[in-house]
Amino acid sequence: MTRTANFYTIISVLLVVSGYCNASRKLLVFLIDGFRYDYIHDLQNLPGFKEIVDNGVKVDYMTPDFPSLSFPNYYSLMTGRHCEVHQFTGNYMWDKDSLKEFLIGENPDSHLPMWWDGSEPLWVTMQKLGKKVHMYYWPGCEVEILGYKPTFCEKYIYNPSINNLTDAFQDALDVLKDGGADMAGVYYENIDVSGHHYGPGSGEVQRAVHSLDGAFQTLNQRIKEKSMQEDLNVIVFSDHGMTDISWMEKVIELQAYINMTQIIKMMDRGPVVSLWPKPTRFEEIYNALKGVNNMKVYKTHEIPERFHYKGGRFVSPLTLVADPGWFITESKAKLPYWQNGTGEQGWQHGWHGYDNEFLDMRGFFLAQGPDFKKDFRAGPIRSVDVYNVMCKVLDIEPLPNNGSWTRVEFMLTGSAPRVAPAHACSSVLAALVLLTAVI
Ligand SMILES: [Zn+2]
Repeated sequence: MTRTANFYTIISVLLVVSGYCNASRKLLVFLIDGFRYDYIHDLQNLPGFKEIVDNGVKVDYMTPDFPSLSFPNYYSLMTGRHCEVHQFTGNYMWDKDSLKEFLIGENPDSHLPMWWDGSEPLWVTMQKLGKKVHMYYWPGCEVEILGYKPTFCEKYIYNPSINNLTDAFQDALDVLKDGGADMAGVYYENIDVSGHHYGPGSGEVQRAVHSLDGAFQTLNQRIKEKSMQEDLNVIVFSDHGMTDISWMEKVIELQAYINMTQIIKMMDRGPVVSLWPKPTRFEEIYNALKGVNNMKVYKTHEIPERFHYKGGRFVSPLTLVADPGWFITESKAKLPYWQNGTGEQGWQHGWHGYDNEFLDMRGFFLAQGPDFKKDFRAGPIRSVDVYNVMCKVLDIEPLPNNGSWTRVEFMLTGSAPRVAPAHACSSVLAALVLLTAVI
């Protein structure tokens, strides 16, 4: 062989090896809002879920972070950090310095970097590494975080339909298959909406779960049609569970105990309420609230350590936490009704946000694909644990986080490595580069 031929042979090997080293499997993630762990206890009538469970991993339940609310847990799931670390401590937050508010739903100030830049979510890390993420209806995917946005974001809309969901994952499968994306995230809200309106034990929630099951049957079928079983990992999880609330019986009206004009700011209502009293009235308000049944009032430093909450930048001087099933509001006149476009309306029958150890707040976690064991039942995990699992199957280095690797590592398959280990790849590449230089 001539020196030129040798050179071209080595260059070809170099290209093949580097392509092999860069090939990692794709990840499709579903965030199913408000899906309580026990909604899939009876899998016999849920063939879509059953196929995922039979082919993959199911944990007993997933404990959310405190407060067991949506935005705090969206970020705990995507950063592996507790709320006081990533700073998303509520669906409603107030910054006492700038007087700006974060409000769930449409609100321009909710895009301000201060709410989002407290921690780096997985999709931002992926984009920084030059990988591509597509997100569908995922709350916040339209926000520039630490200077980055996903490659594609279908902006959040209220309660996307089941057709929105199937269209989203079919598009995701296409881009994951053709190399347009390395990871895709799809958000679905309907289970949470049905749980709030009708209660977790209602027929409406059952119907919503069945409808989602139909979509997962389609998902399983499409993955097989596209021959993606060996290249695609799928993870499905929720942010929190849901509990029944009895409106007119279990309401705590703050105005019955304190003079609301002495409160500078009150954020949220329900299980967790944040209060900023006038400084001169702080002790008086605190003492008045201490005597209220069925809830606890905490000065910031009194908030239990296990909530991993009190260190948050936007935590208020007084935090009220209702006992399970109770609802804190200024007055009954301010209780939130729900209504939809067809004229239906009513009291809310389900809520969440309570102590994260309360059983009904538990969410779920399922996973299937080449990196996960098959037909594997696992013990409970926590929402902060999920981040490490996603990083592992994406083959990226996790940032420092609060998740426990020992709680999740056993669910991953240890058989045949999916790609050559990074250090082996770099050694082979370095040797080849050296050889090319020598000849
Ligand atoms: Zn939620």
